[in-house]
Amino acid sequence: MSSRRIILCAWVVLSFSTAAWAQNTYEYRRVRVEHNIGKQDEAYIKAIAKIVDFAASRAIEYGFDMPTQFRVTVHLDPNQNVRLSTTGDFQIHFSIQNTNQLLAPAKSGVNIVYGLCHEIGHICQYRILKPRAWMSTGACEGWAHYFGAHVVDLLFKKHGKKIWPDEHDYSNKGLKKALMRMKSARDETNQGADRWNRLASIVGIKGVPGFFRRLNDAGIDAFNAAADVERVLSKEKKGSKLVKWWKEARQVLVKELEKSAFKTETVKKRALSGKPKLLSHDEGDPTGKVSWPGSSGAAVAFEVSRNSMYLTEVHVYGMRYGKKTDEHFFLWLLDDEFKAITCFSIPYEEFAYGPAHWETLEVPPTLVPRDFFICVIYNSESDKGVFRYHDGSAGANSFSGVPGEAVRGYNNGDWLIRAVVRRKK
Ligand SMILES: [Zn+2]
Repeated sequence: MSSRRIILCAWVVLSFSTAAWAQNTYEYRRVRVEHNIGKQDEAYIKAIAKIVDFAASRAIEYGFDMPTQFRVTVHLDPNQNVRLSTTGDFQIHFSIQNTNQLLAPAKSGVNIVYGLCHEIGHICQYRILKPRAWMSTGACEGWAHYFGAHVVDLLFKKHGKKIWPDEHDYSNKGLKKALMRMKSARDETNQGADRWNRLASIVGIKGVPGFFRRLNDAGIDAFNAAADVERVLSKEKKGSKLVKWWKEARQVLVKELEKSAFKTETVKKRALSGKPKLLSHDEGDPTGKVSWPGSSGAAVAFEVSRNSMYLTEVHVYGMRYGKKTDEHFFLWLLDDEFKAITCFSIPYEEFAYGPAHWETLEVPPTLVPRDFFICVIYNSESDKGVFRYHDGSAGANSFSGVPGEAVRGYNNGDWLIRAVVRRKK
């Protein structure tokens, strides 16, 4: 059976308190597992905790930033897809439809040992690199694949087949075997993994976390990522080697943002005249509360009836949660083809805590085309972010998507996102 049946993905809907379905908990070192698996299969829960701890210990050795406690949820639920995912900070979620899916991959089609190591790979990268609009699937999934496969080799060397209660040889998911596939593979994940592997062969895997940190600190501009990363690399110790690596790797690791052909401009507030005009499609009723962690975006399409209109404010209905942070979230202005015109970076502290409310986010008066999108990306995580709301009645103007990727209609309701425009004198 193919191992592709398992969905490895980076994001999961958030929750903070122990899930209602999780009657059982198991703790092992830095890992807490909440689950509803019966006593007869508890050995699998113990193995999951041990693998997560093993992978995290390797990550710490290499200098990555790991949480002091992981929360792993294992949910047996016949109505869900088999799915392994992470919020990218300290939570990993695994859902299975029946306990046969805990068996060795040959019987279950599910590669859990590799999958857990892969999720720790995501956490290594996402805890350090925050704005990721410039990173391709190859950069994110490729890194998780590279790291996961690398740890599988170490795990197999240390614990062999015995790590999993249904003992099996999982070493074919290790880097040694994967490297051969990576070289000839055409898919983004394998190509990305190959490029990260080449980086690690230049700086060593211990050189990677520092590199991620310097990229994060440099603040890579999504419109100019290839050059921005190159600038960071040229200052590294092995600068010339790294720049050479990058010239080829960037074709896989960078998600090129196609800039809109629309020529925008910003003007001073005093250049504006007339009453501010509020554009909205929602019915104002915050029926649906949603948290999508990470870099997913909620977008609304707007239209103005004349040229020379300037965006001055974006109103978003939401509820801030979690810790204080000096990070930013993002408002994208996009044209009618969802091509980016500009991006406003908003400090999190501008979003007030307290009950859900309309927050007014001021932007420099920015010329908009007749048809445009506003896309809000909170980069929410388990312990910081904003819950979004929709009105529960679907219209034709709400979408989900990320600049540079496909945008899809959002069918649960209209996002509570509004825009204010004014005309120029
Ligand atoms: Zn993944």
